[in-house]
Amino acid sequence: MVTYEQSLDQRGLLVVLTGPSGVGKNSIIDALREEDPRFFHSVSMTTRQPRKGEHNGIAYHFTTKDRFEELTRRGDILEYDTYCGEYYGTPSAPIDRMIQDNIDVLLDLTVNGALELKRKCPNAIIIFITASTEEALRDRLLARGTESEEAIESRLATAREELGRINLFDYWVINDVIADTASDIRAIVKAEKRRVSRFFVDECTL
Ligand code: 5GP
Repeated sequence: MVTYEQSLDQRGLLVVLTGPSGVGKNSIIDALREEDPRFFHSVSMTTRQPRKGEHNGIAYHFTTKDRFEELTRRGDILEYDTYCGEYYGTPSAPIDRMIQDNIDVLLDLTVNGALELKRKCPNAIIIFITASTEEALRDRLLARGTESEEAIESRLATAREELGRINLFDYWVINDVIADTASDIRAIVKAEKRRVSRFFVDECTL
């Protein structure tokens, strides 16, 4: 029996942004959080080296391969993937807490990571972000100036491969102007919160 009270369900949403390195996911996350600080950004763990200006615990939790593997063995990592030879993963505990506290969480994951998370948490929304063209993406990576030419080519090749799996995602958003992209994502989140199936689907199996 459905009750009117069920419509008041305010459970937090897991909002996953996936898209090529350099497409501007961090700027989108910053714009969304600036507008609505209730969005929590899940800080991932990685074994890659920090880039200039990246601080431990803010950009990422930087760690070693041994430690990362130990955490995955212990089940402390909700999903993980390897990208350009390094591990990237989502620590389970903060996500678990956020779900309990009905907080909306933004995650920035690879294609494999997004699909793995969706499998474990069917209510999560997975959004694919692209630049308007591959050239626009190359320009952004060059402008960032943090990768060698070889690394940029490797990231563009990965991006091409990932785009081939966009059909598995819930939404496709093109990031040209950050404010417009953030506004599109806010509209998606608003609509998803009223989706009927969401009121009847179980939360994550963590
Ligand atoms: P970058 O080295 O440019 O910061 O990130 C490389 C890639 O790793 C990006 O595509 C980013 O979305 C992805 N990534 C960051 N954190 C995670 C994570 O916790 N899990 C997964 N699966 N991918 C992540």
